[in-house]
Order: sequence, then C-alpha cells, then structure tokens
Amino acid sequence: MSESILRKPKSAFDKLGGNCAAEADSYAAGYKAFLDAGKTERECVSEAARQARENGFTEFQKGSNSNKIYVSRHGKAIMFIRRGKKPLSEGFRMVAAHIDSPRIDLKAYPLYEQDGFAMLKTHYYGGIKKYQWMAVPLELRGAVCLASGKKVDVAPEAGEPVLFISDILPHLGAEQAKKPISEAFPGEGLNVTAGLLPEGDEKEDRVKLAVMTILNKRYGMVEDDFQSAELSLVPAGGANDAGLDRSMMGAYGQDDRACSYAALRALFDAREPEYTGVCILADKEEIGSEGITGMQSAFFDQVLEDLCEAEGCTLRDAYSNSFCFSGDVCNAFDPNFESVSDKRNNARLGYGPGIFKFTGTRGKAGSSDASAETMSRVRRLLDGAGVCWQMGELGKVDQGGGGTVAKYLANRNIEVVDIGMPVLNMHAPMEITSKIDCWQTYKAFLALYGER
Ligand code: MN
Ligand code: MN
Repeated sequence: MSESILRKPKSAFDKLGGNCAAEADSYAAGYKAFLDAGKTERECVSEAARQARENGFTEFQKGSNSNKIYVSRHGKAIMFIRRGKKPLSEGFRMVAAHIDSPRIDLKAYPLYEQDGFAMLKTHYYGGIKKYQWMAVPLELRGAVCLASGKKVDVAPEAGEPVLFISDILPHLGAEQAKKPISEAFPGEGLNVTAGLLPEGDEKEDRVKLAVMTILNKRYGMVEDDFQSAELSLVPAGGANDAGLDRSMMGAYGQDDRACSYAALRALFDAREPEYTGVCILADKEEIGSEGITGMQSAFFDQVLEDLCEAEGCTLRDAYSNSFCFSGDVCNAFDPNFESVSDKRNNARLGYGPGIFKFTGTRGKAGSSDASAETMSRVRRLLDGAGVCWQMGELGKVDQGGGGTVAKYLANRNIEVVDIGMPVLNMHAPMEITSKIDCWQTYKAFLALYGER
C-alpha cells in the first residue's frame, strides 16, 4: 500500500540513473563557458545575443516577420522570441530569468588618495554579506560613457592584476569580533585598494594621479567620466567544477545566470514548438526589478504588443493564455546551517530544480503564490517529460525570505510559478550548484517550450 500512496523522495542520480552524471557534465561545460563570458548583465546580453545569432536569431525590427528574434534594452536586458505554429492569441510559453547579480559598484566620485594608497569608494548592489567580499580577488568590469558620449567597455585582459577590499588581521581583530556582523562591516568601509605608486611631482594626490593615468591610457577616461559610468567589482577568475567528484560547480553569478543559460538553450533547442516561446533575461532583479531594464518595465510588454498588433490580436489575450516559469535559483539545504531550514520542505542539492509555489516573507507577503491548478499543470508537464524536480521553501517560517520576478508576471495576468536549481552560498562571490540540477532545469524549460 505505502508503495503507491506515500512519496518516496529520490535524488536525481537515483531517479535518472544510467548516464545522467555524464550528460549533466556535458551540459555543464557550455554553462561554465557562458558564466565566464558574462560576468555583468551587459556581458550576458552580448553573449546571449551572440549565441542567438549562431542559432538563427536576428535583431527585431518593427514589421519584420522573422521567426526567431531578439531585442535588447540598453544592452542590459534582452528578450528572445521564437515563433510557434499557433497564433499569438493562444499565448506564449515564457521563461523569465535575471542576469544581474550582487556585486560592488563604484560611486560617482570613487577615486581618492589616503595614507599613500589610491582608493575607490563603492556602493554595493544587491543583498550581500559584506565580509564575504573582503580579502578576495576582484576585478573591474562595466562601461564608461566619455564626455563625447562614446561608450567604452571595461573588462580585464589576460594577466590583469586583481583588486581587493582589505580586512583586518585576526591578531588585531578582537574589537571587530565583538560586534554583530551588521556593525562590524559597514557599507561605507568597502573601499577598494587600487594603487600604491606615485606619479609626477605635485605635493598631493600623486598616487591617485598614477591610477587615473592608467585608466586614461586604457579607456580614454578622465576623472569626471566616472559620473557617466557603470563600473563594478566582481570576483576575479572563472567558473570551476566543485567537489572531488566534480558533481557541482563553483562560480560567481550563478544566481541567476544558471536559469538564464538554461532558458536560452532550451529556447534554441525546442523542437518545432507549437506555442511561441519567449525567453526574458531581465536586469535589476536584485534591487527590486525596477527601472527600464527590470522586469517591471513596459519594455517587455511593448515589444510583445508590437508582435500581437502585427498579428491582429491583443496583448491582453496573449497574456491571459500564456504560461510562464519564473526561472530563479533557490536556497539549497545546507548541512552546516540546518537550523534555518525546515528539512522536510527545503530543496536539496542533487534533487533537480526546486519549484516554489510561493516566496515572500512573514506569512508569504509579497509573493504571487501560484494556484493549486497551476501547480497541477506544472507537475503534469514535468512528470510527463521525465524531469526530476522537487518542491522547495525559502527557509523556516519567519526565518527570513525573499522574492523573484514571478509576481511582476502574475500582475500582468500571466500564469506563473517559480522554478530553479538549488544554490549553496547564494549571493557569495562563489555560489554552488549541482550539475544534474542545472541540466534538469534546462529539461524543465525545454518541456515548457515544447508543450503540445
Ligand atoms: Mn535570483
Ligand atoms: Mn539573488
């Protein structure tokens, strides 16, 4: 009896068997290359568009009738559309993920000299544990718009020196250790050390001048150009396999480039889709999905509305018949910190993507909370496609919480649920995922895009 009516949780490895670790490994190779090519939202947009062109996509022009198109906003958010056989009035099959990740941004007047060092003032972006970003190798990436309006990309080259935020040595850390973490590491203290050698014979700011000279030679920028720049410190180095068995990956920015890559690949790989597939890679999720490149932007609606108008249907009808996965990573159960989770309901690494009916805080507040009917549809879709998946919940009740882009899609009257691979060390410079989970998330997105 219990065989048929009790749930028997199985890891993806046990459920899928056979060659699954090797198949996951080959999927992971492409994913790691994507992570290395895209360490900022701008770089992710460029790399995703490049891969799309390789797969027959062209940039959207109003009035064009291409079946595979993409359109980007400010080079920081991008949407890919692959036309299916059915009319748009029957709805889209969508995956919305985000390509921005927590990081350390430079301020508008960042550069100063103090006690013989050239330093950079910063303002962190997204929810970070500040101490994790100290005493680790960082690199500068982003874009600067010069006084002329010309935009210059900033990225390290091979052999580039690393930057860093210093931390106090343990020998002198007794006072620091007495403080709560929120007080021990003030945001205003995250100043980057950028140089030590002086230049010129002025009385003051010779080290600052030397650093500005390096930036000037390299990017043609002067100090005032920081005012129209988006420069970020992100962890230096590339994606690695993790674990002696290479079952996992350790890399910066897996939240949420893991789902972004899975969604993109799935849109490319779906076979003769019935419904029009949409892959949204949004910016600004980590700071509330605001702005013209965030999920709340009308940009996404306006492009889809243009397509609907060209076909003589309303966006309203298309949305009300659409189905969307909000593709975002979830918290993985951590044996080192089990007290924050309800073990019975927390997603586990190696058990496939976690599906979240709701997120939110204090009694699910701020979450779109998918309907039972929506969950039923997802179960049938994924089980029918043989995907290994699990349900998840963001920690113990009242432990904390968070949100995703799901509610911004739900508010557009699009049926939506959260799904994504579990992550350890979320928002740390090195986040951890399981290769099998990433591969199964791709399979889940493939099932949605290929829905009959
Ligand atoms: Mn996320
Ligand atoms: Mn996040």
